[in-house]
Amino acid sequence: MAESMHYSLRLLVIAVLAIIVGKIIWDAFNDEGSRPVVASALLTAIAALGYFEYQAQAAEQRFGAIASQIAHRDVSVRCQGLLGDVADISGHLGYVDFDASGNPSDTTHIARDACDWLKDYERGDHSVGLDSAMGVHTLAHEAMHLQGVIDEAKAECYGLQQMPRVAERLGASPQQAHALAVFSYRAIYPQLPRAYRSPECAPGRALDLSKSTPSWP
Ligand SMILES: [Zn+2]
Repeated sequence: MAESMHYSLRLLVIAVLAIIVGKIIWDAFNDEGSRPVVASALLTAIAALGYFEYQAQAAEQRFGAIASQIAHRDVSVRCQGLLGDVADISGHLGYVDFDASGNPSDTTHIARDACDWLKDYERGDHSVGLDSAMGVHTLAHEAMHLQGVIDEAKAECYGLQQMPRVAERLGASPQQAHALAVFSYRAIYPQLPRAYRSPECAPGRALDLSKSTPSWP
């Protein structure tokens, strides 16, 4: 409910801005001859803005549905954008706020780069690459925080194991999805800061979510 309100508000802001700018331009161009030109230019700009906003919201809803599946509850994804939150997430690809009792908020904020990587992966050929791995991993990692996992090393390790699921929801085949997670574990995981890693994040160890199966991650 709150989320649909948020979406309406963003589109409302565009509509109100369009009316205000339109009025200013309309008043500035008293000459009847130039008005149609100005009006059509303005309409084109509004249509473009509305289209991009619609696309951005549709992507957030798709990513939110994936995060909800992993978090086992209704959560939402907010991509950093010009019209979205201006929350500072510099230095991080994403974050989830926790309250003083350790309960996660219902929304994860994801950096513009990571959202772009996710969108590129979605419409690309689903091959393995650094940007793809980081985008998919960011969504999986933040979804674990949304599930209530506060510890970074656990969110990282569980997120890694959720990567195939996220990648498949973004259109990858099971083989492509698995390959992306394997790449992430081998190439990215060892480079992470100490707080994000654990010796228990290995097949058959404490953080392995499916110890009975040999598949990893
Ligand atoms: Zn985290």
